[in-house]
Amino acid sequence: MKIGISYFGVRNPEWVRKDMKAIKEAGFNCVLHTFAEEDLQYYPQTMKEIIALSNEEGLKVYVNPWGVGRVFGGEAYSELAARNSEMAQVSLEGKPLVAACPNSTFFRSYISEWIEAACKCDIETVFWDEPHFYFEKGKPELHTCGCKVCSEQYREQTGKEIPKVPDDEFKAFKQRSLISFLAFATEQVHKFGKRNSICLLPPWFPAGLENWDEVASLPFVDEIGSDPYWEKGDSLEKVQKMYGETSEKIANLAKKHGKEAQMWIKNYHIEAGTEHFAKEATEIASRAGIKNIFAWSYLGSKYMDYLRSENPELVWKTQIKAFSLAKARNFSV
Ligand SMILES: [Zn+2]
Repeated sequence: MKIGISYFGVRNPEWVRKDMKAIKEAGFNCVLHTFAEEDLQYYPQTMKEIIALSNEEGLKVYVNPWGVGRVFGGEAYSELAARNSEMAQVSLEGKPLVAACPNSTFFRSYISEWIEAACKCDIETVFWDEPHFYFEKGKPELHTCGCKVCSEQYREQTGKEIPKVPDDEFKAFKQRSLISFLAFATEQVHKFGKRNSICLLPPWFPAGLENWDEVASLPFVDEIGSDPYWEKGDSLEKVQKMYGETSEKIANLAKKHGKEAQMWIKNYHIEAGTEHFAKEATEIASRAGIKNIFAWSYLGSKYMDYLRSENPELVWKTQIKAFSLAKARNFSV
């Protein structure tokens, strides 16, 4: 069974080694290191060192393009679209956004550079985290992308102009665009001899990737997963429903396409008194037959105050216990 935790924010290898030892001792066998635009620009050799020492400590390594181009999830800044306006996504009202367009050839060449740097490190898997077209919570009127490239491609594919109000045909275009981008990226990773994992935003987000079957059927996708995180104030029943439905969907898709299934457990923004939600979510994923479960993030996300849980130590302890129970259950099956 794969048990993993995400890790970010520390770039001093001496401290990272101490944390990797602690992660291994807590029973994990995988770690996900974030690899943001900043890492590619300022820390490529340090990242290589951090990844190498994680392996030395007995952890298999996943890396994700954290917040890169804002096409992927994460609390990392992205300056790609600001520095290269030709790759920016544009809202249907014509406003350039701080996100790169997955259809842009400039963005794709940046991603190629990122893949090469990441795959030169001793990683096992590239984790394509929540690929999406830009959206903002609470702004349902904001739709993308109406950039020059998308407008031309849409015209070529449909013979029409992009509608001002998105319709099903435009939604299908977004799906095709993200599938094309993922096909491009995963093939390159595969050529470097590394694995591809794709984590899909749960369906209640307007990501643009509605058909998960097409994602799972991509030839170089090795693993498919999701992260149906609960919001503050959600009930345990809601968590059970979200994790139950999503785990089953992922497990079925993986089985159908011969891929590995992965689920993510929320370990940030956990309100005091709801730490057991993480245990429950882990158990639900495990009972759905998923043998690859990760949590976000190390120590209940204690060291990033924006994500910190109210009682991060208890979240960490609860998650470790939940994983140990899942491993025992898996062993006994
Ligand atoms: Zn575009």
